[in-house]
Amino acid sequence: MAAIELDRISKRFADGTVAIDDLSLTAADGEFLILVGPSGCGKSTALRSVAGLETIDGGEIRIGGEVVNDVAPPDRDIAMVFQSYALYPHLTVERNMAFPLRMRKVAAAEANRRVADAAALLGIEALLQRKPGQLSGGQRQRVAMGRAIVRQPRAFLMDEPLSNLDAKLRVQMRAELVNLHRRLGVTTLYVTHDQVEAMTLGDRVAVLNGGIVQQVDSPHRLYRR
Ligand code: ADP
Ligand code: ADP
Repeated sequence: MAAIELDRISKRFADGTVAIDDLSLTAADGEFLILVGPSGCGKSTALRSVAGLETIDGGEIRIGGEVVNDVAPPDRDIAMVFQSYALYPHLTVERNMAFPLRMRKVAAAEANRRVADAAALLGIEALLQRKPGQLSGGQRQRVAMGRAIVRQPRAFLMDEPLSNLDAKLRVQMRAELVNLHRRLGVTTLYVTHDQVEAMTLGDRVAVLNGGIVQQVDSPHRLYRR
C-alpha cells in the first residue's frame, strides 16, 4: 500500500521561483525513501509540502490514502525531524519528548510509557532529566527522534537530520537510523544532499533536479557502475 503519495504537485513561491514542477513520487508502506539532489532542487519544499508547512499550487498529497491538501500540519499523521533539533531549551528531555503527546491530550500513563519505550530504543534513558543545553549534538538528535517516535505516526519526515553532526558521529547515527527503521518499520521520507547517506540508508532513492524527479531506483542499481 502507498503510505505517502505526491501526485503531480507544483509549488511556486511568491517571488516567482518554481521550486517543484509537476512532481510525482510514492513511498510504499514501511519504505525508507531518500530524496537526494543538489541544493535548490526542491527536496525541502517537497518534504515541507507533505508536512503541510508549504501550501502547494497544484496536485494532490495523500497520506495513508487520505488527501491532505487542506489538512492542517498537526492533524497530518506524520512527525518531522529537522537538522536543527528544535528542542525546547527550558524543558527536560523527558518533557521535550512528551510534549507532542500532551498537546494531543494523550493520558499521562500512556505518555510516560511511550517516552520510556522510545528512550530505551534510542539509548537515552540516562538523559531524561537533563535539559537540551546539557547534551551533545548526537544526543540532541536522538531526543528529536524520540519526540517523533512517541507520536507513533504513519510516517517520519526527515530533513538532513544528520548534517549538523561531525563526520564520525554521522557514520554512527546512520547505522542507528537503519537499525531504528528495521525495528519500527515506519515509512520514512529522508531528504539529503549526501550521496553516501542516500546510498546507505534508503530502500529506494529519488534523484531530484530542477523541481522534478529524474530517477527513482534502489541504491544498488542507481550507484552501480
Ligand atoms: P533543496 O531543499 O533541494 O535545497 P528547496 O526546496 O529548499 O531546495 O528550494 C527549492 C527552490 O525554491 C530553490 O530555488 C530555493 O531558493 C527556492 N525557495 C525555497 N524556499 C523559498 C521561499 N520561501 N521563497 C522563495 N524561494 C524559495
Ligand atoms: P535547506 O537547508 O533546507 O536547503 P535553506 O537554508 O535553503 O534550507 O532555507 C531555509 C529557509 O529559507 C527555508 O524556510 C526556506 O523556505 C527559505 N528559503 C530558501 N530559499 C529562499 C529564497 N530564495 N527566498 C526566500 N526564502 C528562502
